[in-house]
Amino acid sequence: MNYPVVEHFYTLQGEGFWAGTPAYFIRLGGCDVGCVWCDTRYSWKKEGWPLFSPEEILSWVRQTPASHVVLTGGEPTMYPLDPLITKLQEEGYFVQIETSGAYPLPSVLPNWITFSPKRFKEPLPAWYAQAHELKIVIHAKSDFRWAELQRSRCEAAQAYFLQPDFYNPSALEWIIEYVKTHPTWRLSMQWHRYLAIP
Ligand code: SF4
Repeated sequence: MNYPVVEHFYTLQGEGFWAGTPAYFIRLGGCDVGCVWCDTRYSWKKEGWPLFSPEEILSWVRQTPASHVVLTGGEPTMYPLDPLITKLQEEGYFVQIETSGAYPLPSVLPNWITFSPKRFKEPLPAWYAQAHELKIVIHAKSDFRWAELQRSRCEAAQAYFLQPDFYNPSALEWIIEYVKTHPTWRLSMQWHRYLAIP
């Protein structure tokens, strides 16, 4: 299995539970979820990206001191991830995937699932029981109600995050007030965007 890689880089995880953690990012091309606030629209197309094997991807990661690898997109679960997760885990890497849950779970589970379901394409039910963290982007006030519905289906998760749409300055203010009155939730910022790092 070869994977279409849009970009890959070693940086700090900017959001969610592992924010601040050094991590090697592999961004796969292709997404049909269609979020209106998407900040990686350049990754939506599925065709035309160079293809790389798990061994080649592993060789990039090995050139850094990273121990944490993030498989992101696009929507990485559009592809069978088992060979890539297996290869990375065999080498001792902690594998995190970031997914909307719109496609089936891999049979080989990563070490951490950042589950970020989207209203634009409903996730498959199997993801709810496997998510380690739930992350909901808040774009409009009505998203809070939808976030609570997602949380109620995701009881095994270890952390619940609300993350503001970067392009809506009001969303951050809404979340701060909401988290103060609904303390099950935590605020997730996209720190990489504020810090201007990849
Ligand atoms: S699921 Fe992610 S990559 Fe796909 S449109 Fe939504 S934010 Fe963008």
